Amino acid sequence: MLQPLKPKSRDSLGRIMTRYYEGNHLEAAKGKFVVWIAIIVPTELLKGFDLIVCAPESHSAMCAARKVGAAQCEKAESVGYSMDLCSYARIDLGTFFDQGRGSPSMGLPRPDLLISNNDNCSLLVKWFDVYHREYGVPHFVMDVPFCYQSQQEKDRRYILNQFQDLIRLLEEMTGQKFDYDKVREAVRETNEAMKHWTRFLKLAAHRPSVNTAFDSFAHMAPYFTWMRGDPALTEHFKLLADEAEAELAAGRFPVPNEKYRLMWDNIAPWHQLRRMSTRLAELDANIVWSTYATSIGRVEDRLDFFEWDGGDPLHYLARLQNRGWCCYGMDLRYKAMAEMIERYSIDGIVFGSNRSCKVYSVMQMDLQKRLARDFGLPTVMIDVDHADVRKYNEENVFLKLEAMMERIAAEN
Ligand code: SF4
Repeated sequence: MLQPLKPKSRDSLGRIMTRYYEGNHLEAAKGKFVVWIAIIVPTELLKGFDLIVCAPESHSAMCAARKVGAAQCEKAESVGYSMDLCSYARIDLGTFFDQGRGSPSMGLPRPDLLISNNDNCSLLVKWFDVYHREYGVPHFVMDVPFCYQSQQEKDRRYILNQFQDLIRLLEEMTGQKFDYDKVREAVRETNEAMKHWTRFLKLAAHRPSVNTAFDSFAHMAPYFTWMRGDPALTEHFKLLADEAEAELAAGRFPVPNEKYRLMWDNIAPWHQLRRMSTRLAELDANIVWSTYATSIGRVEDRLDFFEWDGGDPLHYLARLQNRGWCCYGMDLRYKAMAEMIERYSIDGIVFGSNRSCKVYSVMQMDLQKRLARDFGLPTVMIDVDHADVRKYNEENVFLKLEAMMERIAAEN
């Protein structure tokens, strides 16, 4: 049975996320300039201005984790949005069309500017375009080159030029002067936060693991908000890493009789965090590592922390634009996953074929074949949707998971 661990970190998470969502509404009511961003947009750059920054994707993930995702999706579907669209988009659009009702945060305050990017998918740009039309506010789209190899200097320059365009636009719209020193400070702060995040993740190497991937999914939340570059994020990740280290020293583990060490590939199944982790623990299985939790703090095929060297913060932020899994090719994904398997003694891989996120899922069949062949590992492909529980069948999923575990047991 899964032991409830890391209580201080859980309290801290609840506190800072509540403060963030409530604070946004309060500050917006006082007339502060509101920007909505895609989660990969570098919030450290925006810290050069005095703004409220909201992330619709994070709002959708929060709704799904709080079990209202499907209800919000239905609201978007009822006005004509297809069920095949990403559930993040449907949740957030459903919230918008119902004026915030049904959302634990009552939606997000009205934006003055929208900033999206195509790092992940083009759907996101179209989704923000709906708000562009409905609210009649500008929509800045950041164009980020897809990487088949590591990001090139010319790609970086191309991104940096767009940062300059964005800075000019914000200066014009807000009447504020861009503060470069504040950006430098924010990057320094994120760098500190990510050292603790990496320290926390690495503890999964211990057998049994002191962490589950479900811990990391939940605690990633503040990173994907305005808290990047904020001391609150550093304090939170430090607390998390310290608490996990203390539990390791005390021999307290989420799955004490850990028999199967699994890896998860895709976005977190937000509506199943507790349910899936508890059921796996009852089978002495733990998803100890995920590709998703490493979409922050590193770049492309490297597994180690990608540290800021103290140089130009804008250059560093441009380098980070290709860090998410969706904006680079299969060879880079393969290299990173191969290293994860070896470093964290993975016994089997769970590929979550995500009905919503086609870009994350598109290479999974090839990756599954290559990794199974090269490492002789049992793997399984399960159907899931990260935020729409209606597209998830728990019994079918566990039938497949249990079959994989039987194979692991038979082969070891
Ligand atoms: S399809 Fe994937 S990358 Fe695009 S918005 Fe949805 S979850 Fe994000």
